[in-house]
Formats: sequence, structure tokens, C-alpha cells
Amino acid sequence: MAETDSLKRLKEELGKLPGIGERSAERIAQHLLALPSEEALALARAIRDVKQKIRACSRCGGLAEGDLCPVCSDSKRDAAVLCVVEGANDMRSLEATGAFRGVYHVLGGRLSPLEGVAPEDLSVEALLSRVKAGGVREVVLATNPTAEGDATALFLLRVLAPLGVKVTRIARGLPSGGTIEHASPPMLADAIEGRTELREDGASPAARGN
Ligand SMILES: [Zn+2]
Repeated sequence: MAETDSLKRLKEELGKLPGIGERSAERIAQHLLALPSEEALALARAIRDVKQKIRACSRCGGLAEGDLCPVCSDSKRDAAVLCVVEGANDMRSLEATGAFRGVYHVLGGRLSPLEGVAPEDLSVEALLSRVKAGGVREVVLATNPTAEGDATALFLLRVLAPLGVKVTRIARGLPSGGTIEHASPPMLADAIEGRTELREDGASPAARGN
């Protein structure tokens, strides 16, 4: 079947997207072709806006459209509790829970000797500066519970400890709503190791390491 160059190009671009195979690219391209111009171009404009307007928050490194991201510019957030994450997507996931009222610091990755990622490749200096500037009571290390994420957390603990700030690590173990039967062995091991005391008076159990 003959097709125009621009349609072919659209399919090629769509096909580069994650999770979009050749057939899906074909379907989406046909769909866009059939849409009224205004609707189809809204997608093009959204893509352009995201690429042109979004940049790193000057304070935390999260995604921002101005100088500061929505979290850093919210005066109701508790700036005394600083949550360190590997990437802006982790920050977005944590924000989606609505469970955290502090602020963030985006490292821009995790230490990885194999991939040649050293502390100076991450925003470690900026993190230390923020803590040294005062006003931070607790640093929550929310790097991923992987070997590299754990090593990064350990490294951060070492450089943060001399500053006299409380350092905590996110809990790990069974996900809420999960079952023991379906949990992976490492998850179960974490859950057993990180067990917390239950109290009849409903007092919140002490976190491991406290
Ligand atoms: Zn920010």
C-alpha cells in the first residue's frame, strides 16, 4: 500500500514510544489522521509545551514550569523534612500518595560503580548545602530498595551524619493489600527483618533503626 511520507514518519515516531508496537502505531496514526485538525494538534502542542516549559526546580531538582516546582513553592509543605529520591518520577509517585507533607531533593540517579556514576554526578553537594543552610530536621532516604539504591542511601548517611541531622530510610517489606503467599522472598525477608511492635494503645510503632 502506498502511503505519504508524512504519515510514514508519524508512524515511525509513534513506534518509538514505549509499549507501542507497529500495529498500535498504525492504529494511532490512522486515528490522528481522522481527527479534526484542532484535536490532533492539541497533542502536538502538549508535547511541545512539555519540552519547552518544563525544567528542573532550582531548589529540589523536581519538574518545574517556573523557577520552583509546585512542592517547593507551596508554603504549607514542611521544609524541615527532606525526602531524597533518585529521580523526578519517584517524587511524582510519592506525591500521588498524598502521604508525605515534607519537601524533596532529587539526586538525579543513584551511585553505580558499574555504570561509572560517582557522587559528583549526583546532586549530593546541593543536598548537603540545603541541610547546612539549616531548618532541616530530618532527611528521609527514599532511594530504591535495590543494591545500588541501598549503597547510595548508605553513602548519603555517611556524609549527612556529621551535620547532626536525623536520617531515616523508607520502610520496606510487604506492600499494602499484598499477601504473604504472593510476595517475593526478598520482600518477605525485609518484612520480617523490619517488623514493628504492635501496641494496644494504638501508639505508632517505632520504625526500625530508631
Ligand atoms: Zn522543587
